Amino acid sequence: MATRTQSPGIGYRSGLRQKTLKQPIPCRGVGLHSGAVVSMVLRPAAADRGIRFLRTDVTDRDPWITARYDQVVDTQLCTVIGNSDGVRVGTIEHLMAALAGCEIDNAIIEIDAPEVPVMDGSSEPFVFLIDCVGTVELDAPRRAIEVRKPITVGDAARGLTLAPADAFSVDFEIDFASPVVSHSTLDVRLVNGTFRREIAKARTFGFLKDAERLRAMGLALGGSLDNTVVVDGDRVLNEEGLRFDDEFVRHKVLDCVGDLYLAGAPILGRVTATRSGHHTNNEVLRALFADPTAYAVVEMPETAYAYAEALPATA
Ligand SMILES: [Zn+2]
Repeated sequence: MATRTQSPGIGYRSGLRQKTLKQPIPCRGVGLHSGAVVSMVLRPAAADRGIRFLRTDVTDRDPWITARYDQVVDTQLCTVIGNSDGVRVGTIEHLMAALAGCEIDNAIIEIDAPEVPVMDGSSEPFVFLIDCVGTVELDAPRRAIEVRKPITVGDAARGLTLAPADAFSVDFEIDFASPVVSHSTLDVRLVNGTFRREIAKARTFGFLKDAERLRAMGLALGGSLDNTVVVDGDRVLNEEGLRFDDEFVRHKVLDCVGDLYLAGAPILGRVTATRSGHHTNNEVLRALFADPTAYAVVEMPETAYAYAEALPATA
């Protein structure tokens, strides 16, 4: 892996430290696909350990799964990671997005089921819980994955490009054959709390016509109007309506942030995505890390946080 040590005075500084949770956070909820009640505890972890899941219900095989792009084993309906013993955990993307947005570098996620609870379908409940306990800095510099050259996966109709930039930003376009979801774009710099304010509350969504098909396949058993925006024709079925006029594209940005946090560190780069999903989000990381000249592991520069407040968060 390409590395570069930080050198003050050339635009990088060493002041930013890795973070973890101040205290363990217990949490319970329903798995979106299994419908089962899941208990989870987010625990502090030491520096340079990253985000790791521990399946507490697994006793006969290795229960540890590292939250990293090369552990992704399924991306059909959600992002699923698994270890070499076949132990899996799925629907990790909304939790991963919350950890990314709250800048948690290291944590152990203890969970007694193969699926992270869906909560309200967004990252907001996880962000709330993390904010309740707070974070602590660890005695190690925060690292980032600096994109050194553009990497593209997919094509113009459905794909994603990761390009060099001073900060992490996502420019996302959706285009659904639905009068409600429809065509929408969002360009957002994900620094200085933008994730909390603009993205974290956006819920997952689905179409009523797909719900019965998924249930017949034994999927989406925990899905309800409490955790999914359900669209039927030209209507949103949830009584409270939408949290943002463009909640759908915001949720796709949320998924993208969560999936890309499987890089193992925050990305310094610009994402331009068209109708991308969990598969292409993972594919771009595999392509990036397959090319040693495309990235470098650097100490997170303070400049990555420096100028977002002055710019509009959304376009
Ligand atoms: Zn999602």
